[in-house]
Amino acid sequence: MTKQDTDVLIIGAGLTGLTLAFLLKDLNIKTTILEANTRIGGRIITKRNINQAPIDLGATWLVPQQTNVLQLLKTLNIDVFEQFYGSTAIYQPDPNKQPQLVSLPNNDSVSYRIKNGTQTLIETLAKQLKNTSVITETSVLSIQLKANLLEVQTNNQTYVSKFVISTLPPALFNQNIGVTPKLPDVFTNVLANTHTWMHNSIRAGFTYKTPFWKHLQSSGTIYANSGPLQEFYDHSNAEQSVYALSGFMSSNLSDLSKEERKQLALEQLQSYYGDQAVDYLSYEECVWKDEKHTTTTDNNFLMPQQNNGHPVFKNGLLGNKLFIAGAETSPVFSGKMEAAVSSAIHVFNSLKAEINSY
Ligand SMILES: Cc1cc2nc3c(=O)[nH]c(=O)nc-3n(C[C@H](O)[C@H](O)[C@H](O)COP(=O)(O)OP(=O)(O)OC[C@H]3O[C@@H](n4cnc5c(N)ncnc54)[C@H](O)[C@@H]3O)c2cc1C
Repeated sequence: MTKQDTDVLIIGAGLTGLTLAFLLKDLNIKTTILEANTRIGGRIITKRNINQAPIDLGATWLVPQQTNVLQLLKTLNIDVFEQFYGSTAIYQPDPNKQPQLVSLPNNDSVSYRIKNGTQTLIETLAKQLKNTSVITETSVLSIQLKANLLEVQTNNQTYVSKFVISTLPPALFNQNIGVTPKLPDVFTNVLANTHTWMHNSIRAGFTYKTPFWKHLQSSGTIYANSGPLQEFYDHSNAEQSVYALSGFMSSNLSDLSKEERKQLALEQLQSYYGDQAVDYLSYEECVWKDEKHTTTTDNNFLMPQQNNGHPVFKNGLLGNKLFIAGAETSPVFSGKMEAAVSSAIHVFNSLKAEINSY
């Protein structure tokens, strides 16, 4: 089997990988992105059904402080719109207690959603790449330093590259990708113990013909400590022409079937909104624990954001030929889209210097 040559090889076509390739596109170098999944986007996925509201099942909300993402969206001419929270929420602290309609604090904090779903960002980045091959269904298995180059073994091809950038959650990199020569123990220990943002969450959403929740003096905002739905919001589109409710389901329900989770969610919504809630158009969900390209198989308990943005991620490895990037490697907004974009910018700056002196 012939080996494929490239200048920069990026592992993973999520937000970090695609942003990095977008930044590299004018440097006149050959970039290759290898993506294990059948789709690009990683932890960004939007389900779109014709004439229904797009449902985000991964990254969804941005706050004004996520300035690098907002700047990237502006560069790509992608619009954002304000999340509707309304002035009241349904609050149910305990399943045995009646739900209450509570007033939401009148604060000035806003959050935004991306028009037509967060996946628009992924699709637009991918469309604008130059000198870049994006190859799906290709899992990187190992990286080996050979002379001045890195040899990358995948499930179907071998690549040889001057530089390799991993954008996998660090714990997943540690679990699935072998490196020769072996990385220092102190480094692999951090990799293994870096928490992956939202790795065990369940996102769910229902689309509807009408936003009936708004006619019931309720905004669609739901907080229920015990679940099955724990945090739910209006998820209608920017134009307010198609309607949905979407949010987080209790992660304790991951062992149930999709149908069982849907029924539990519908019972809860019906108890708040009546029979209209059962008359949905479509149900979408993602159990992130089952996404093998995001979540490790061990049951290593880690605190949320543990080791995220650790200083070891700042510098390159193997003589600045291998970089570990991704949302968990940035210290600001660790785990979130802002961290993914910041990490791409950080590696781009390090790489530019290395490429110039190669
Ligand atoms: C449920 C959920 C809700 C979220 N909500 C928000 C939010 O509201 N706001 C916010 O800012 N952020 C949110 N996030 C976080 C946001 O999604 C991430 O910060 C961002 O998408 C991470 O991008 P990334 O490219 O660093 O990693 P990933 O998206 O994880 O990309 C890594 C890529 O590597 C691929 N890969 C894995 N193994 C291999 C291999 N061996 N070989 C080749 N490819 C491989 C994966 O398939 C994936 O495409 C949420 C995440 C989840 C899961």
